[in-house]
Amino acid sequence: MVDHWGAPLYGDPCRGCGFTWAGGQAGSISLMRSLPDSIDELVIGATGTERLPDLGWNISGYIAHMTDNTQIWAERLIGVARGADPHVVPYDPDLLAESRHYNEVSLQGATWSFRVAAENWLSAIDEAAPAGIVMLHSVRGTMELSDVIASNAHDAYHHRWDVRRILRKV
Ligand SMILES: [Zn+2]
Repeated sequence: MVDHWGAPLYGDPCRGCGFTWAGGQAGSISLMRSLPDSIDELVIGATGTERLPDLGWNISGYIAHMTDNTQIWAERLIGVARGADPHVVPYDPDLLAESRHYNEVSLQGATWSFRVAAENWLSAIDEAAPAGIVMLHSVRGTMELSDVIASNAHDAYHHRWDVRRILRKV
């Protein structure tokens, strides 16, 4: 089974956050590089516990998810770049959120962790690019490095939009 993800699922640009799938690899990488500063700036004056009734996580929770998703993909990229089996199985973000108690994470810790994860992700991309990796995702099918980069950058950017919505900064 091949699941829909990316432009067919979200629209191009994304109907929510406005991410452009056609922005290319360089665009997605530079977006990811800018996100930690952008998040820090966005949450000035916030406590992290702000939330909307129709969204499952509060601000700290969304940032904690951005961290985990980014770090998990960096780990997968490094693994495959260093010769691991290219088969990748999905993780369950909701179970992870539950076990880590996302909504209880401190905003100060969450923003620090996201910066570390983004830096790790950027070094993983640097290592994976010359290795010409291809991942075989059990749900999404074959993923070239460019697919992984776009998908990861979109995930983070999309949740930045959630944080903006919570803070009424959209
Ligand atoms: Zn989006």
